[in-house]
Amino acid sequence: MAPFHFWLLTKYPSYTETLICACSRKKNNFTRDVVLITIEVESNDLSTLQQMIMNFFEETENLYCRRCKEQSARRQINVRNHLLLEAVPPGTGNTENNDLILRPDQIPKQIRVMNSLFTLRGVISFISPCVEDMTAIGHFTAYCWRAHTDRFELYDDLQSSTKPIYVKTTTMIKFRYL
Ligand SMILES: [Zn+2]
Repeated sequence: MAPFHFWLLTKYPSYTETLICACSRKKNNFTRDVVLITIEVESNDLSTLQQMIMNFFEETENLYCRRCKEQSARRQINVRNHLLLEAVPPGTGNTENNDLILRPDQIPKQIRVMNSLFTLRGVISFISPCVEDMTAIGHFTAYCWRAHTDRFELYDDLQSSTKPIYVKTTTMIKFRYL
């Protein structure tokens, strides 16, 4: 499970999935909104991110239809205004050590998915609580990408300065969400 309070975003899903089956009329099809897209990445590498997302959407196996009880439904995906992605290395839990660690130029800035062009807004780092306190929730920071300067700015509310912190091109950014 993601540490995020993703329920805050339920009105802003990444995509809508509709199950279409020959047994039902269109108005009765099952639809659900999906907030977070979890992509298993094969290594510490996002250079093929666009293809990984397309593969995720293009799973061709038929799905179970709750109405006719057959394995005969197809998924129809409609992407929305943004994509919220979680990149998870394979065979890992959700420990902090399994985040991606990339230089700014290794993070994809634009991808095209289902005829929509998506531009990176930023990546999110999660720092686990350092004490074994069940009420501790950890700390999030955001690295926002600014297209006009092609630079990342770090936003961290634990920093005392209110000025943007520019991220060096050689800095390794550790993150899980983008
Ligand atoms: Zn059916």
